Amino acid sequence: MYSDIEQDIVHEHPCLNKAAAKWFGRIHLPVAPECNIRCRYCTRVYDCANENRPGVTSRIIGPGEALHLVTEAVERDPRLRVVGIAGPGDPLANPETFETLDLVHERFPHLIKCVSTNGLLLEECLPLLKAVGVKAVTVTVNAVNRTVASFIYGDICHHGEIYRGGSGVDLFMEAQRAGIRMAVEVGMVVKINTVYIPGINDYHLVEVAKSVKAAGAQIMNVMPLIPQGEFAGLPHPDREQIRLTRRNLARIIGQIDHCRQCRSDAVGMLL
Ligand code: SF4
Ligand code: SF4
Repeated sequence: MYSDIEQDIVHEHPCLNKAAAKWFGRIHLPVAPECNIRCRYCTRVYDCANENRPGVTSRIIGPGEALHLVTEAVERDPRLRVVGIAGPGDPLANPETFETLDLVHERFPHLIKCVSTNGLLLEECLPLLKAVGVKAVTVTVNAVNRTVASFIYGDICHHGEIYRGGSGVDLFMEAQRAGIRMAVEVGMVVKINTVYIPGINDYHLVEVAKSVKAAGAQIMNVMPLIPQGEFAGLPHPDREQIRLTRRNLARIIGQIDHCRQCRSDAVGMLL
């Protein structure tokens, strides 16, 4: 499934490999507040010390402070292997992401650099991501057809233009597909995050799995919706629904079952 180089990354990346999660840790650097799309389940909250979910951080930091945090974390725990940027917005919509990874890569070339993105800008950012040492990318793909995607996404902002409705989601889904394909082609490990949204995309996830597999993604992480934002009234999927979905999709693409839906400023071991 993986090339030798990819295997080295998977071997030490705690999110890609459950066994690695027992041995190696990660740090998320919350340097990326802006986003270029609107997922209807998203509420980004800063200054929150008590909530544990994606998009939450105590505060936004700059690249210099981020490097300082990585240095401290490495000194504190040599098991740290992955430096990730996972929001609280979309990392690729924030120039601070590249500045931060550049600083970290120069100082710690052996650490795995990782970004988690909605994929809108992935293809065009690949040369920059490669230049700052990124070897693993997570793309969140919740739908691969226009009807389902239109329920999930609001405005798409691309190079200063706002796209709404069908044309917006078409542009977005095509950008995701192209980004995944090209990221794999340049040798990155690509993980897909998919939010299981009851009544909205739960019946559609086989198509999502087939599509991302065809684009070259290596592994998939189905995450239960945390009902909030415009989807605050939807039910929280139960563990059994998620377990059965993963088991079903595993016939199409490898599944992860140890994701902790971490904050954008998470640090330490997953397990
Ligand atoms: Fe929120 Fe991430 Fe969606 Fe942007 S891509 S709206 S930060 S969930
Ligand atoms: Fe890993 Fe999931 Fe946490 Fe991301 S949210 S760092 S994939 S465990």
